[in-house]
Amino acid sequence: MTMLPTPSRKKLGLVIDLDTCVGCHACAVACKEWNDGGQFGPLPDENPYGKEPLGVWFNRVHTYEVVPTAQASPVTVAGNREPVAGEREPIGAASRGSPAAGFRLPATGSSSAMTVHFPRSCLHCETPDCVTVCPTGASYKRAEDGIVLVDEDKCIGCKLCSWACPYGAREYSAVRGVMQKCTLCVDRIYNDSFEEIDRQPACVMACPTRARHFGDLGDPDSAVSKLVAERDGYDLMPEMGYKPVNKYLPPRPRRDGCASKAAAAPEEKVDLSTASPILRWMDRILSR
Ligand code: SF4
Ligand code: SF4
Ligand code: SF4
Repeated sequence: MTMLPTPSRKKLGLVIDLDTCVGCHACAVACKEWNDGGQFGPLPDENPYGKEPLGVWFNRVHTYEVVPTAQASPVTVAGNREPVAGEREPIGAASRGSPAAGFRLPATGSSSAMTVHFPRSCLHCETPDCVTVCPTGASYKRAEDGIVLVDEDKCIGCKLCSWACPYGAREYSAVRGVMQKCTLCVDRIYNDSFEEIDRQPACVMACPTRARHFGDLGDPDSAVSKLVAERDGYDLMPEMGYKPVNKYLPPRPRRDGCASKAAAAPEEKVDLSTASPILRWMDRILSR
């Protein structure tokens, strides 16, 4: 058994915005590139750039269609319990017991289904059993900033930690015979050889929609803590008691497609009688 350190004041983690994530996988690819691009990267795969680039990914993006389940106003879908009337239920792979079953979705009153893209990586939990079940001390949580890491020299590949992680965030490397996971890019965020602006996780820097944010969630005045407070950010599957540091921001309510068409502004009429002959000719051609 491995002990957890005394909880630190500093809690580094990610805030992921399910409203603006477009499921482009740029974060997953950037993670793979940063961790696997060099000869000594911590993420060696059998065939990372081949036709079937399977293997270890520290960050995966899943896409779900969610549908309203009843007439009442939809609110949330919590993990591992049946939805109550009006909740929106993820369908497809987001079954009960999967991390995606912890989506919190907006009350829209709309009958439309919506698509939610759900990036998944280690949440650097405050009280994770993935650390305490480790028989060798290979899995550990850093006292100074709360990052959860694996010491590959101590890992015997028993996979107990992956059984203990309810978020599916641990990945076993068959090549190395050790467990691996998101490092919160610890080799970037403290890297003095980088400009300060670049001392952020690779996935955060790559996201084209700024759906990923990095910072100290233990500091209530940090930008990420303020964002979580403003947008009602939430823990994934809090009932597990792992206290994840990473937070998710729920999607904002979508406009109903039919309602928005009905409410659309009337088409603007343009008086062409005073327009030049060439404009009138173009209008005739384009109006056909
Ligand atoms: Fe451990 Fe899983 Fe929590 Fe990461 S998300 S700290 S691997 S329990
Ligand atoms: Fe990958 Fe780094 Fe992002 Fe973790 S923080 S998912 S290791 S890019
Ligand atoms: Fe979502 Fe950003 Fe990742 Fe693209 S890069 S999948 S938008 S989090």
